Amino acid sequence: MPESLYKNAVSQLKEVAKLLKLSKKEVDYLSKPERFHKNTLRVKMDNGAIRQFKAFRSQHNSARGPYKGGIRFHPQVSQDEVMALSMWMSWKTAVVGIPYGGGKGGVVVDPGELSVGELERLSRTYAGWAGKFIGPWTDVPAPDVNTDSQVMAWMVDEIEKTQTSKTQKLQVNPRATFTGKPLEIGGSQGREEATGLGGFYTLEKLTHHSSLVTRNSTIAVQGIGNVGYWFAKFVSDGGYKVVAISDSKGGVYNPKGIDLEKVMEHKKKTGSVLGLYHELTNQELITLNVDVLVPAALENVITGENAKDVKAKVIIELANGPVAPKADEILLRRKILSVPDVLANAGGVTVSYFEWVQNLSGYYWEKQEVFEKLKIIMDRAFAEMWHVHLDKPRLSLRMCAYINAVSKVVSVMRVLGRI
Ligand code: GLU
Repeated sequence: MPESLYKNAVSQLKEVAKLLKLSKKEVDYLSKPERFHKNTLRVKMDNGAIRQFKAFRSQHNSARGPYKGGIRFHPQVSQDEVMALSMWMSWKTAVVGIPYGGGKGGVVVDPGELSVGELERLSRTYAGWAGKFIGPWTDVPAPDVNTDSQVMAWMVDEIEKTQTSKTQKLQVNPRATFTGKPLEIGGSQGREEATGLGGFYTLEKLTHHSSLVTRNSTIAVQGIGNVGYWFAKFVSDGGYKVVAISDSKGGVYNPKGIDLEKVMEHKKKTGSVLGLYHELTNQELITLNVDVLVPAALENVITGENAKDVKAKVIIELANGPVAPKADEILLRRKILSVPDVLANAGGVTVSYFEWVQNLSGYYWEKQEVFEKLKIIMDRAFAEMWHVHLDKPRLSLRMCAYINAVSKVVSVMRVLGRI
């Protein structure tokens, strides 16, 4: 039985609630999503058969603005997972101080098994259903695991077809319902790089403030999808040494450094990073002798079992929920600094916010402007977390970030009289 992500999320919330002395009513309210939608989508396969897919959208909290968060397509998607991820989105948008709440969606599917046509019909069916409760001022989805700008484009098209009259009346650009769109239909410059770049800005801040990382630090990146790739690229260009990377099939390690473009080229040809350099498993990568470990794929990879064997001094959480609470305790005891997901990977949702702002104002920015604005927001969020860390050095960085985030959400809820 995999660890329950939702239980993890609630236990983190309870920990911060104690520090902030929140009332039971407040904790109860924040423990659950405000709304949870589920459905069974019926989609026509290429062979004419109808296949059913379980679909979810969790709307955790809207005190600070519209629900915000991705939609993932993965066989392991569940109600439990989507609920946890939506709560983490509420904290993430608060950590970076952008005017959103938290949401998350998902479909139980292995998209690798679908043809492009089937994937398109599934995406459109999801949007057709979710159209009732998403929109620029209610809930703004984006890509997540296994979904990309093309999936967003199909969803936008579906929404535009069905919602034009309603949104026209409101004079709101219906394309602002989704972020992470292709540039041609209102996507933002820099959205693709954003999560990796935000992670790089975070690492730079840590290098500046902590003696645990320097420009000569070695780095292992687990997961070389969009997020892991861009992070690895920015840090390599920035002078750090990436010595190991992996994908779902396994990883490669070279203590002298990995030639990223060569590995990506190889992966394009063969379907995996394996074959170049010394090979290792994803499990071995977690406990590799490096300075910085960067889980950039899925959740719960650093657990109560393997946390004692982690050799890195610093962890940058680019995936959502890669460090389980039991691992958090062990890492804290071992003085390993783990920069929490709600800060480290918040570059993505921050540039999603820029995209939404551009869609609503009709004024589009250059990439350089996007990168500069992202840096300002990431640096400020880091500084706020670090400020708490200096004051309370015994707490994990996650709790430091949560103290800021949860108090921002609660203070808005109090002022609105919602609790
Ligand atoms: N899926 C990304 C995340 O977990 C991005 C969410 C968004 O842009 O709304 O942060």
